[in-house]
Amino acid sequence: MQKMHMPENQLTGVSDRESNMDEISLKALAKINLGLDVVGQREDGYHEVRMVMQSIHLYDRVEIKKTRSPQIHVQTNLFYLPVDENNLVYKAAKLMKTEFKIKEGVRITLHKFIPVAAGMAGGSSDAAAVLVGMNRIFNLGLKQSRLMELGLKLGADVPFCVMRGTALAEGIGEKLTSLPPMPKCPILIAKPGVSVSTQHVYEQLKLTEGTEHPDIDLIVENIKKKNLRGVAENMGNILETVTVKEFPVIRELKSLMKEHGALGTMMSGSGPTVFGLYHSEKDIRGAYDALKQSGLAKNVYTSEIHNNRR
Ligand code: ATP
Repeated sequence: MQKMHMPENQLTGVSDRESNMDEISLKALAKINLGLDVVGQREDGYHEVRMVMQSIHLYDRVEIKKTRSPQIHVQTNLFYLPVDENNLVYKAAKLMKTEFKIKEGVRITLHKFIPVAAGMAGGSSDAAAVLVGMNRIFNLGLKQSRLMELGLKLGADVPFCVMRGTALAEGIGEKLTSLPPMPKCPILIAKPGVSVSTQHVYEQLKLTEGTEHPDIDLIVENIKKKNLRGVAENMGNILETVTVKEFPVIRELKSLMKEHGALGTMMSGSGPTVFGLYHSEKDIRGAYDALKQSGLAKNVYTSEIHNNRR
């Protein structure tokens, strides 16, 4: 079984590599939601959410080098990603340069492994890594809380990606309450070959009195009790009411994972990625093979809970 799609040497250890003061190499961790509820809509159109956020051990690698020339230069292994101001790492670097009047430039090399537009906050986590990395190599001495504030200017998920671990996110996703560590377990992740626009999903969401909401408080309670089964059995994502109708493959993936021993399954964020929590490596192996054989998913990954806060 293939353990994530990344070079073997990146699978060991969880700390970031720091070589010298002029360059830094960081892991940008993906997230899953263990619960996602929409509880209302603000006057400005933004949806108010209650989500349980969890970092996992699947990551992009972000290398940042100081340069004498003032430009921001971005390169990446994925040809279809923008390398100009439309890339979140570029935006993050520009924000740091402007905010702290940094004269030098940076060369950012982005090795993408987190599936793109998948509901796993890949871009947000890359941006968070740039904030953290530039704080270190330019010796800015900023506290994590300040980096989180800056992150919010780049996107609602960025503050969590700065913090990492397990958290309850409220408001539009920016009000974070740190939670005790989630019990460790293996995770099976399946990304079907369909694209889902987050904006479209939220626009299509119709909340009526009959809409079934996930019980976020119960998920939080089970995390506090260290009850893995309790978390897994109560996971739920209100956005599935939109995406499952449009992409039945999401339901099929969830069923297949359950048939093969998942304690619980859920779509992450606005999808289309589906994940399952498992009790042991042994349990996940059969499920991985079955998923691969089914052809339902374009990419299949195994990962695990990552509890270390930054
Ligand atoms: P979220 O879970 O926060 O909704 P996501 O996983 O759905 O995020 P991303 O992979 O972060 O989505 O990116 C979605 C879009 O953002 C892509 O279409 C891509 O063109 C653009 N983008 C900009 N910068 C990046 C980046 N560094 N990595 C990935 N996508 C990026």
